[in-house]
Amino acid sequence: VANVSHELRTPLTVVNGYVENLQDMPDLSQDSARRALQLMAEQTKRMENLVADLLTLSHLENDLSPLLEETVDMDVLLNEILKEGQLLNGGSHSLRLELQSNAKLLGNREELHSAFGNLLSNAIRYTPKGGAIILRWAERGDQPVFSVQDSGIGIPPQHIPRLTERFYRVDRSRSRETGGTGLGLAIVKHIAIRHQAKLEVLSEEGKGSTFSIVFPGKRTAN
Ligand code: ADP
Repeated sequence: VANVSHELRTPLTVVNGYVENLQDMPDLSQDSARRALQLMAEQTKRMENLVADLLTLSHLENDLSPLLEETVDMDVLLNEILKEGQLLNGGSHSLRLELQSNAKLLGNREELHSAFGNLLSNAIRYTPKGGAIILRWAERGDQPVFSVQDSGIGIPPQHIPRLTERFYRVDRSRSRETGGTGLGLAIVKHIAIRHQAKLEVLSEEGKGSTFSIVFPGKRTAN
C-alpha cells in the first residue's frame, strides 16, 4: 500500500499543482492553459496505466481458478505482437520476427499476449533509436522458448535478480519518461509461473538484453 500510494502521489501532486494554477489565474493565455491541460493529461494517463497494471497483477495473484488453456498458434500471436510493436515504436527501431519453431503452445492466449507484449514494449522503451529488436520463437531441447533480444541500454548485473519486484527500476526517470509503471516484469513473472515457465534475463550494460520465457516441454502442442 505504501509503494502504491507513493507511485500515485507524484502524478496527483503535479495535477493538483496545475489545477491550482488554473484556478488562481483565470486570465491565463490560451497557450499556457493548453500546455497545462496537456501536462495534466500525461499525468492522468500515467495514473490510469498504473491502476490498469495493478488490477492485472491483482487478478493474476488472486486467481485461484486453474489456467484456462488452449492451443495457441504462435505464428498468429507473434505476428499480432509484432504489429503492435511497430505501432508503438513508430519505425524508430528495426523489429524482426524469427520463427525457428513451428510448435504451438498450450496456454492462455490472453495472458501470453500480455507477457510477450510487455517484454517487447520494454525492449522498445529501453533501446535507443536505430537499435535492433528480435522476437524469437525457438526450441531448447524439448522446451519451447519465447525471447525478445534488444540492442539497448542493458542492465548492470547487480540489478538483474530484482527486476521482477514490483516498482523496482534501474533508472526511475527513464522508466517514467517512457510511460513505465514498474509493474511490467512482475506481471510477466506471474504469467510465466502460471504456465510453469521460467523468465530468464541475459544482459550486458551498453550492449543489450535478452528476456526469455522458457516453457516446460509438456506445453508443446502440434
Ligand atoms: P517499467 O515500467 O519501469 O519498465 P518493468 O517491470 O517492465 O517496469 O521493468 C523493470 C525495470 O527493468 C525497468 O524500469 C528497467 O530499468 C529494466 N528493464 C526492463 N526491460 C529492460 C530492457 N529490455 N532493457 C533494459 N532495461 C530493462
